[in-house]
Amino acid sequence: MTINHEFVDYIPDAIKEGTVYVCVPFATVVHRCCCGCGNEVVTPLSPTDWKLIFDGQSISLDPSVGNWSFPCQSHYWIRRNKVVWARRWSLLNSIASADLPATLGSKRNSETVLTNDKETTTAEEATR
Ligand SMILES: [Zn+2]
Repeated sequence: MTINHEFVDYIPDAIKEGTVYVCVPFATVVHRCCCGCGNEVVTPLSPTDWKLIFDGQSISLDPSVGNWSFPCQSHYWIRRNKVVWARRWSLLNSIASADLPATLGSKRNSETVLTNDKETTTAEEATR
């Protein structure tokens, strides 16, 4: 399953399914649950919430999106504009296995994570 992303200045009233809205001024990402249930999923971007990786063409969201508050209980990763579904693990297992798709999936995923870590370190060093 592929999704589109859109960089917006503010979150539009009408959220299209299959589009991930990235609102940089408000550090927020909004999309409709990828299972098709139509619920809006708001993922705030912050050092303690989600991180957005934009590689110039596609976006990835870290960590996974777990919609525990929705009836669908869907759980997936957004990786390079693709929805990667997680199995129905318990919440604890999901956290422990947060990087599982990287080892299961493509080498590219682990590279993305490594690059991201390096950038984080550099940014921290720069503020010191
Ligand atoms: Zn859903």
